[in-house]
Amino acid sequence: MVPMIARVEPLTTARALRGPFDYRLREEQHDAGVGALLRIPFAGRTALGVIVGLSDSSEIVPERLAEPDAVLPGGIPADLVELATWMAAEYCSTPARALGLMLAPGAAQGTRSREVLVAELAHDPSDGADGAERLTDRQRAILERLRREGPIAASAIGTDALRRLERRGLVTLERRAQRRRPGQATVGSASAVAPPLTDDQQAVLGEVLGAVARPSRLDGAGPGGILLHGVTGSGKTEVYLRAVEATLAAGRSAIVLVPEIGLTPQALGRFEARFGDVVAVLHSALGQGERYDEWVRLRSGEARVCVGPRSAVFAPLADIGLIVVDEEHDASYKHEGDPRYDARTVALRRAQQHGAALLCGSATPRPESVASQRRLRLPRRVDGRPLPPVEVLDMRGQHHPLHPRTRMALADVRRGGRKAIVLLNRRGWSNFLSCRACGHAWMCPNCEVALVLHQAGFVACHHCGHREPLPERCRSCGSAALARHGAGTQRVEHDLRAALGDGGFPVFRLDADIAGGKDRAGLTLAQFEAADAGVLVGTQMVAKGHDFPDVTLGVVLDADQTLRFPDFRAEERTFALITQLAGRAGRGDAGGTVLVQTLAPEARSIEHAARHDADAFLSEELGRRQALGYPPFGSLIRIVCSAEDAGEAASLAKELHDRISVPGAAVLGPAPLFRLRGRSRSQLVIKATDRPGAIAAVGAAVEGLAAGASRRRVSISVDVDPQ
Ligand code: ADP
Ligand code: ZN
Ligand code: ZN
Repeated sequence: MVPMIARVEPLTTARALRGPFDYRLREEQHDAGVGALLRIPFAGRTALGVIVGLSDSSEIVPERLAEPDAVLPGGIPADLVELATWMAAEYCSTPARALGLMLAPGAAQGTRSREVLVAELAHDPSDGADGAERLTDRQRAILERLRREGPIAASAIGTDALRRLERRGLVTLERRAQRRRPGQATVGSASAVAPPLTDDQQAVLGEVLGAVARPSRLDGAGPGGILLHGVTGSGKTEVYLRAVEATLAAGRSAIVLVPEIGLTPQALGRFEARFGDVVAVLHSALGQGERYDEWVRLRSGEARVCVGPRSAVFAPLADIGLIVVDEEHDASYKHEGDPRYDARTVALRRAQQHGAALLCGSATPRPESVASQRRLRLPRRVDGRPLPPVEVLDMRGQHHPLHPRTRMALADVRRGGRKAIVLLNRRGWSNFLSCRACGHAWMCPNCEVALVLHQAGFVACHHCGHREPLPERCRSCGSAALARHGAGTQRVEHDLRAALGDGGFPVFRLDADIAGGKDRAGLTLAQFEAADAGVLVGTQMVAKGHDFPDVTLGVVLDADQTLRFPDFRAEERTFALITQLAGRAGRGDAGGTVLVQTLAPEARSIEHAARHDADAFLSEELGRRQALGYPPFGSLIRIVCSAEDAGEAASLAKELHDRISVPGAAVLGPAPLFRLRGRSRSQLVIKATDRPGAIAAVGAAVEGLAAGASRRRVSISVDVDPQ
């Protein structure tokens, strides 16, 4: 018979080793299809590989082809192989790296289902067929229990006794997978009952359902999907829930992407409450076994809704009818490892593959989405309450980190027994330390950045994690007079506690430094929710989509901080942060106020956010981007070469520069970046209107230099659509 040839992509991270390579499947391996995970002999060792194609011929004679050692569990459906191939090209990466993101969680490390022996009644002895009279009382009791309760884990009864019943044909014993169940979300009480929709929701849902129902092979609603632009508290989640419900009713499946589950447990709770076990969750705070089991439930079709962060866009679901991207402006949708994919772009591609509708929602949509998607509006809050008034407080000439107006408002909140949220997008105690005598500043030895002072008595680098004890004297002149500049969340927490914290008015802090990581974040939110009154201080984490009705005051400290970054998204970020934080306030009967402290009160993004004027902001921002050729009017690709040797990094960047030519595109650089983790870096930025052309040119140039780069110990990282 004809040998079956599998085209296999070995899962190596090396850029220079690119498959696929042909392997000959043994007869018992013939049902391994595209997407199967294999253990293969590769380059003199054993590696994992994924089948990316099948054939009955190879350029190599069959006898000389190696055979896979084994077919492993955890392989992916064929549509994900196609998606990986597309991603590898779109993000100038390799198929192996893209495939690596899509396997069952832990499959490469050997995670498997947990199996237990399950006993089930085989035959009802009351039929009188099989000599029921010869049973002991204990055996009768066992059979009675199995009849009453259905299948039970054998260990709960006793394996020996069950084996004896099995031999008589009364009981069957079988190994079955046992689900490791993720813990339940703890913030917010979600109801299983759907409320009647508001007129606005009803109108929007009608359009969305039209897109879900349209049986086209294109995506659901025009070239870029649907953008649900709804103010904070307008009930976007209810629209998602109804759209998912309709998708399930049509027999199809759905993916719901959320920014970070640890920070948005409420959203997950709403989906679980509404749909129960048909929902699977994939997120990194779950144990590997739990994640694996959730993945298997999705793959088998037992679960048909996947809720999770960006990687959930790879959920192994068949026949997807809807992909929701909640809070589509959130930066966490961009993956920071190679391939540097953007889950929103991948979601659109996957929706197109499946003929699914793409529904993105936000109160602060990105200008890119406004330009490319069909926009539907929810202009009012569900409860009809106005958005809270925003006061901009000019901090020029102020010496205390809190404006007098802010201090007064916080004291009012405390007096009224209500809640406030204070946002400062900077963690730690002080920004940086310097010597008052000679001006020496404390810098990271690995990175060219200042060390941040932390409350616990150390200084730390927020880029590489380097830490050292708080110095007592200046390293260069010996002076003991050290200046601490700027305030971070720890300092604000401390100051607020000193000012307000007595008398049962708790102050909570939420940032990346709180011990216990992601689980602790959910716990802190739950504590703040459960408290009768109090303040929550934190980084942008406090501005995510939380829905706490008793928050009456929102405060943004140092609102122009994000504007000081040299980044074309600075305005967009600032506008979103203020608007999102404002959205947390005034959701209850007591109304609310928002205070924005800034050194730049006349900045466009701050003025527009203060007036809740997203349209004015978006149209000005789109105008500015068009003039400068920034997205969505052009595409950016960033290439960073890094090496211990500064000269090598820069010269490789120069060689890349010379190889990249795209008509109408500008190749900017090489420009040196600050040293990071002990490596010098050099950057190129390509600004192009021909996006596919630019991606292809960059991909070819990088591939052409990959072997030389690895010889010279330079690593090349490509970021298409950098954040
Ligand atoms: P958004 O995501 O747009 O900020 P949410 O989805 O958090 O808004 O909704 C705000 C609040 O309104 C939630 O508590 C939600 O349960 C509630 N809600 C949503 N739709 C309705 C409705 N049709 N009737 C009553 N309450 C609703
Ligand atoms: Zn000094
Ligand atoms: Zn560092």
